[in-house]
Amino acid sequence: MLDNSKKEAISHKNWFNKAFSKEEVEQLRQIGIECKADHNFFNFEILDIFGCITNRKLKKFETLYARFIDRYIALIPSFLRIYIDRDMLENDQYYAAWFFNRHSFFEVYKRALETPSWNGKHKVLWSPVLDIYTPKECYLYANKLFDMDDVFLEQAVAHWEKPRRGCRCALLTVRESSYKTRLSSGQYELWDKKST
Ligand SMILES: [Zn+2]
Repeated sequence: MLDNSKKEAISHKNWFNKAFSKEEVEQLRQIGIECKADHNFFNFEILDIFGCITNRKLKKFETLYARFIDRYIALIPSFLRIYIDRDMLENDQYYAAWFFNRHSFFEVYKRALETPSWNGKHKVLWSPVLDIYTPKECYLYANKLFDMDDVFLEQAVAHWEKPRRGCRCALLTVRESSYKTRLSSGQYELWDKKST
């Protein structure tokens, strides 16, 4: 069975080959943009497209740029599309980044669930980037450790319901051997169900 990143790589490659003519591929190559589907480090297509839509050189080629924006939007779950502000996608990196951060967050969870050997032995760590752009809602989850269950999912779905500019929450899976010491040192905290 193909893993998710391989599936994403294939669909990215198909899109890229269909979206651009030979001449356009050459134009893109000259500004350092190429299809990275075959690279070893290719992980999420949406992350790759994000790199392109924030590329200033690409922005100067309006029609090509628009195709990358269209693709970015196509990769966003349909229920979220009503919230998309195309102008902000093009001009506000913190807004645009929210969509791939959301994708990566849930993908980490999905991939963890699909690894049966992790069952019960791993937890997930909610890990927001904290700086002046971080919305206050993200602070609640800083270094909170969750079981992979509905309690977590409920918080995650609510937090990522609609775009929150500046939110760069990430999810990490952690082994028991590594979270135990961090829990006792206070670096991580278990999510307290009563506090919700
Ligand atoms: Zn957040």
